[in-house]
Amino acid sequence: MTANKPFEIGGETLSQITASKMAPRPLNYQAIYPQVAGVAGVSGELSAPALTAAFFQQMARLIEYTLPALGTDDDRFNEQTQALLKAMRQPDADALALKLMLGSFNDRLSFAAEDQAEIRVTLLKLLHLIIENIGELSLDDRWLKGRALEAQEEMRQVLATFIERLSQMTESTSAYHGKLEENARLIEQAKTLAEITPVLKEVAGATRTMAHDCLSARDELRGMRENALVTEAELVQLHQELDRLSAQTRHDPLTGALNRKGLEEAVDREVSSVRRKDTPLSMALLDIDNFKVLNDRLGHATGDQALAHLATVTRAVMRPQDTLARYGGEEFVILMPDTPLHNGVEAMSRLQRELTQRFFLAGTEKVLITFSAGVAQLAANETGQSAIKRADQAMYLAKRSGKNRVLGA
Ligand code: GH3
Ligand code: MG
Ligand code: MG
Repeated sequence: MTANKPFEIGGETLSQITASKMAPRPLNYQAIYPQVAGVAGVSGELSAPALTAAFFQQMARLIEYTLPALGTDDDRFNEQTQALLKAMRQPDADALALKLMLGSFNDRLSFAAEDQAEIRVTLLKLLHLIIENIGELSLDDRWLKGRALEAQEEMRQVLATFIERLSQMTESTSAYHGKLEENARLIEQAKTLAEITPVLKEVAGATRTMAHDCLSARDELRGMRENALVTEAELVQLHQELDRLSAQTRHDPLTGALNRKGLEEAVDREVSSVRRKDTPLSMALLDIDNFKVLNDRLGHATGDQALAHLATVTRAVMRPQDTLARYGGEEFVILMPDTPLHNGVEAMSRLQRELTQRFFLAGTEKVLITFSAGVAQLAANETGQSAIKRADQAMYLAKRSGKNRVLGA
């Protein structure tokens, strides 16, 4: 039968609930009613397309607010981000197309500006969660078959998780923390996507504040460190503070490369990415040659500058999607996605050549920095750690066979 009047729709909804042996609970009633009535949403709520549009509007703002913290020196990334924001703001945004764009934004984000890792990592987590769940937001069968409530429930959980992680990350700033907790609670209590969207707006605001705070804290520390007037005791304290911040942000303060913790995360990310895409991943481990001699001859502070120089040249030579991490004192790991072994070896040899061109200046003295490296391509079923270990063994062989060379594992 075709139900038209409200009492007919209600009656038909109840018969369908009974026929499908569902419990006669309000939630089930709410889920079936729109199907019978032939509408996409429970009356009084926004329609599914409007909800999706409102949701993406908020997502776009959230992304926008975190952008200053990601730096603006990568033109391609900027363009891509602008295109994404524009697409998110289309009133008839196509959720599946957005899913693709978010995916590639996500990939770019992984390699964009290496500083502000904390915010980047949070944003990445959010994007992963959204990408995993975005299917539920699109106008696919789920909405039309009346499973909107289930989809919303999933989305609600995703957002609650996001807020929870965000608040864990910023436990130190208690006002901000309180605000996020309150938002997390609101999201947990929310029954529809319509109720979640304004909360997301709040989160966006709080995230903007956090991005700002994080930036100014770093700038402040940098400025203070450069200020020659600070006392020795203040310097020690500042170093400790910088170390603490760096541990949080997964970066090594001296070279700006990822630290061990940052590397672990990057390896996990890259390994699961190449497994998914079935592409080669090469990892190089390099160790500076005779670094102790350099330290002994020119002093530890100059040694430090040499390490920073190596990192700068490496970043300039490697592709944006490659990841540089400081593995230990004068040892670095470079992750090279989409790179088979022979290309990885080639890239390291190119870096060696480049270092002979861009020599390190200690005062007025030109100092040539050389390194020995091992390169391993991740094998099927191999862990990232095991590939790094093989690269380390190859590096050791490179040292034994005379240094200043690159060997494949
Ligand atoms: P090899 O060619 O065999 O690698 O010799 P090497 O001298 O580079 O290696 P070794 O492992 O003997 O010494 C590494 C030196 O690196 C010793 C350590 O003092 C120095 N080092 C480690 N971390 C730092 C750092 O952060 N700054 C400075 N300036 N030196 C460091
Ligand atoms: Mg070493
Ligand atoms: Mg060494």
